[in-house]
Amino acid sequence: MGHRFLPDLSADELAERQLAGLKWTVGHAFANCPAYERKFREMGLRPGDVKSLDDLARLPFTSVEDLREGYPLPLLSVPEEDVVRIHGSSGTTGKRKILAYTQKDIDTWKGMMARCYELAGCTRLDRVQICVGYGLWTAGAGFQLGCEHFGAMTLPVGPGMLDIQVQILADLGATTLCSTASMALLMAEEVEKRGLRGKVRLQRGIFGAEPHTPKMRERFEELLGLKDSFDIVGMTELYGPGTGLECAAHDGVHYWADLYILEILDPETLRPVAPGEIGEMVVTSLCKEAAPLIRYRTRDLTRLVEGDCACGLRLPRHDKILGRSDDMIIVRGVNVYPGQVAEVLGRFPELSSEYQIVLTRVEGKDYMAVNVERAEGRASGGDEALAKAVGQAMQKSLLVSAAVKVMDHGELPRTFAKSRRVLDERQ
Ligand code: AMP
Ligand code: ZN
Repeated sequence: MGHRFLPDLSADELAERQLAGLKWTVGHAFANCPAYERKFREMGLRPGDVKSLDDLARLPFTSVEDLREGYPLPLLSVPEEDVVRIHGSSGTTGKRKILAYTQKDIDTWKGMMARCYELAGCTRLDRVQICVGYGLWTAGAGFQLGCEHFGAMTLPVGPGMLDIQVQILADLGATTLCSTASMALLMAEEVEKRGLRGKVRLQRGIFGAEPHTPKMRERFEELLGLKDSFDIVGMTELYGPGTGLECAAHDGVHYWADLYILEILDPETLRPVAPGEIGEMVVTSLCKEAAPLIRYRTRDLTRLVEGDCACGLRLPRHDKILGRSDDMIIVRGVNVYPGQVAEVLGRFPELSSEYQIVLTRVEGKDYMAVNVERAEGRASGGDEALAKAVGQAMQKSLLVSAAVKVMDHGELPRTFAKSRRVLDERQ
């Protein structure tokens, strides 16, 4: 279909590349990384044992504990002089993960990001405003590298700084906005507040780094006048942002199966879930040099989307990231995911997309409070009845009671990074 960056591979060609990449990765890791060598030896495996893609299932897992043990340069598989860059995760869940990159890793990553811009419908005439963190975090570097490689115009503003942000947006006529979902909402509300809607030339948003709800997305799409928006996925361990992108058909995220293998496994049994079921994303890189990943347990939850995509792209898809297994909170013995709370709130048009869960413990008993906001322009008259209705819906869906508080629109914190939805004040 004449793509410059997106590959078009048949199932056989893809499998061939995956097998070659898997063999290379296993050989490379075994020969150059003591931690991997030990894991293989413990299981009585040698690189030559990988003869087909089915052999992936025999390989040992890697997890965040392996990254911690090897801190600060975990799973390093190249001599230090070949490392040209390090990055760190945003550190929202525990200690920051630090990962190393060779020049080839950087080049692979910029190609992945270029695929994202291409799939989002950008051309070299687009002006891409990048409103994510630069520095240790992968986001800024990834979006910028990819944008330049793709050949569009980069407007590297970084996160926050709303004055400069809206100035560049209006004066330079950015067509594409790259940010977290939270930052997209913040920018949208800022543009609205300043009455700049007519000056904004944005056509599309590429947003990610955290879960979003349909409500949140509708809101920033509407306020920014976007024609379309695309969920981008990624993580520091696997280069950074751009491991996959939602296409214009909006039926899942295409991921780069020629660069990594994705398994969806039951987190308890570590066996594949039934087709289309939700499980943990487990990834194996196919050409990553500095820190190869073999069956790395990401803790992100999603499912595979079966069948061919309406957009015609021959790359497999997974659903959006539905949450992380370590997001789960236990309230009075009941397992609760923040996404479940968001789902309930989505049913109430009287409410905005924002929420915050506050957990406390009084005399050994857990209490869950959920703070929500009235939708823009709604009067406060019915707050009490609304809180009651939301509380009842929550009880029904989560099987645990919550004290719901309805606040003014805009009262809950907005952020240009990832939103923190849970405040756990229990010891
Ligand atoms: P970091 O390595 O700090 O960039 O964080 C990566 C993590 O952010 C992933 O493992 C996911 O849990 C989360 N994440 C990234 N992109 C998305 C997205 N589009 N939707 C939901 N969660 C995401
Ligand atoms: Zn598609």
